[in-house]
Amino acid sequence: MSTRYRIAVTGTPLPPLTYQGEDNLATGIRVIVPVGHRQQVGLILGIDEHPLGKFTLRDILAVLDTTPIWTTAELALLDWCSRYYHANWGRVLETALPTALRQAKIAKTIKRPLIAHPAQPNLVTLNTEQQQVLHSLQQQLDRFHVSLLEGVTGSGKTEVYASIISDVLTKGQQALLLVPEIGLTPQMLARLEQRLGTAPIALHSGLTDAARGKVWQLTRTGVPLLLIGTRSAIFAPLPNLGVIIVDEEHDASYKQQDSIRYHARDLAIMRAKLQNCSVILGSATPSLESLANVTQGKYQQLKLTQRANRQPIPQLFAIDMRAQTLEGSLSPQLLTAIQNALDHDEQVLLFLNRRGYAPVLLCHDCGHTLDCPACDVPYTFHRTKPNLRCHHCGRVAHSPRECPQCGSQNWHLVGQGTQRLEEVLMGHFPNTPVLRIDRDSAQGKNKLPELLAQIRNGSAKLILGTQMLAKGHDFAGIQLVGIIDVDSALFARDFRTLERLAQLVTQVSGRAGRGNKAGKVLLQTHQPHHPFVQALLTQSYDQIAQDLLAERAQTHLPPFGHSAWLMAEGRKLEAVQQQLNRLLVQVSNPLVQLSGPMPALMHRRQNYYRELLWLQSDNRTALHATISQLLDALNQPSVAISGIRIFLDIDPQDMP
Ligand code: ADP
Ligand code: ZN
Ligand code: ZN
Repeated sequence: MSTRYRIAVTGTPLPPLTYQGEDNLATGIRVIVPVGHRQQVGLILGIDEHPLGKFTLRDILAVLDTTPIWTTAELALLDWCSRYYHANWGRVLETALPTALRQAKIAKTIKRPLIAHPAQPNLVTLNTEQQQVLHSLQQQLDRFHVSLLEGVTGSGKTEVYASIISDVLTKGQQALLLVPEIGLTPQMLARLEQRLGTAPIALHSGLTDAARGKVWQLTRTGVPLLLIGTRSAIFAPLPNLGVIIVDEEHDASYKQQDSIRYHARDLAIMRAKLQNCSVILGSATPSLESLANVTQGKYQQLKLTQRANRQPIPQLFAIDMRAQTLEGSLSPQLLTAIQNALDHDEQVLLFLNRRGYAPVLLCHDCGHTLDCPACDVPYTFHRTKPNLRCHHCGRVAHSPRECPQCGSQNWHLVGQGTQRLEEVLMGHFPNTPVLRIDRDSAQGKNKLPELLAQIRNGSAKLILGTQMLAKGHDFAGIQLVGIIDVDSALFARDFRTLERLAQLVTQVSGRAGRGNKAGKVLLQTHQPHHPFVQALLTQSYDQIAQDLLAERAQTHLPPFGHSAWLMAEGRKLEAVQQQLNRLLVQVSNPLVQLSGPMPALMHRRQNYYRELLWLQSDNRTALHATISQLLDALNQPSVAISGIRIFLDIDPQDMP
């Protein structure tokens, strides 16, 4: 006897294939199947009910598991992922299944390698607010429910998480805690271990393939445990899931930026729905998406408004850079403030915000920007003439010699000089080493924790960092924070940039100036009167977020409309543009707005030109139908141009 099975195959970009094998193989177990002349690991998705075609089917060669890797509900999440992100199952497995489990080795079952010690009684007594929040959360366990826990930095969210996780473990269930960056959470791990009486299991990119595989073999048994992980931990098998917590839910690192560009927060919500458990989204600065879901009554909002240890919130000031003599991108006021802090043996943190950056020309003396008359947004500056181009309507213009507002010939290119920032700092403060923290300097295992330790133990005085440093972290000794370049965010092409800037400023302000002295946050800008700069200085994050939401509603941008981009990449610019133009004529749906081809922010990367189509619609179904049509068209020889690679981002968080 034999049965036909639908099998998702690793190592191929293919949809599921049909093979035959012995009866009664369970859905969700791994097998080895032949693909061409190779053997690959496959995952049984179910029995193939279709009538037998005229081809003879190939046989399953071996069975790797005795019990399913993923439950039916978990497989439904992967299936959703495949459909929503328009990626075949082969690619989904490449993203979701750790390398160790994609290899054709029979996995050994492993025992829990942990020693449980008795849970410590809660060392802190939850304050009234924390107790109320905990009580609400406890009411919602055991069914699908989303809570947005908005707690100012230092309000004790982690203590609340610990209590709810403890409840879940006591019931014999599993808990999943997603964090943006594992390197930033050693204290959190230690605290949770102490509170829960058992070490959390960590899953992140720093683990070896074998270690990842081991974690999977453990979690899939369903034993009660807390799994803490970054983005990809959302795919870990947790058959007995009781709660998912997404800490710092607004953080952009929950969005994968290559291969399948999934959003771990969105998957968390889908997963909780499928596994019938509750989700807690925590943040001091919730995403506009989540706030809109609260307004629509889909999520329940819970608030922690007080800091557990009542530290003062630092004050924010704008530095007017106009007509100042700059050193690189540093104003004399900021340099003086840094010198002062260093003289008092205090730590200084300088932030460089480069996300979504577009070069804009403005008058250094009066701050005037050169705007497209049709769109009222600043032109983007290009090295090739004509220099000024509008990225909304395509209009071009020549840059004038003199500022039309004040007559100055002193032009400033926003973001210019930031590359040299480290040099300028070293030149100006020769006796103080600069600690730089960004993707490059933090590369390598344990590198980030080492760098962070230097901040925490006070040995690093002058710290230069990117967004990476703004995540859920206390640096008690930092008294002064400088945000180098606010303007690049004001003029960015990316509609999320202002939201990100508000989050960054709020998060950073929440982390500086602990202890008894109130800290200071300085924002450098050529536009001190810009309404958004004023809002940052005078309004709460919630007020700013509500204003930004109103704007998004007007412009039909997410979370009110839905968006996607499709990027073509190739060595010849004409071919890249032609590819996108050929695609454009394949589709037309009055519900979907399509624009492009337009150059990517980074137009040329490693000798490849990159251009995109931007898709936007109020109707998600229509948007996805159009994307399917575009991708189908690429299978036609008359449409596809060889040598062009295509990338797709659904619900993009960034413009490429
Ligand atoms: P958040 O995650 O909201 O930024 P944390 O949970 O890290 O805040 O708490 C901030 C600090 O306050 C921690 O040092 C924590 O131990 C302390 N803390 C939290 N809740 C209480 C409480 N109820 N009583 C005393 N200290 C508390
Ligand atoms: Zn001027
Ligand atoms: Zn324009």
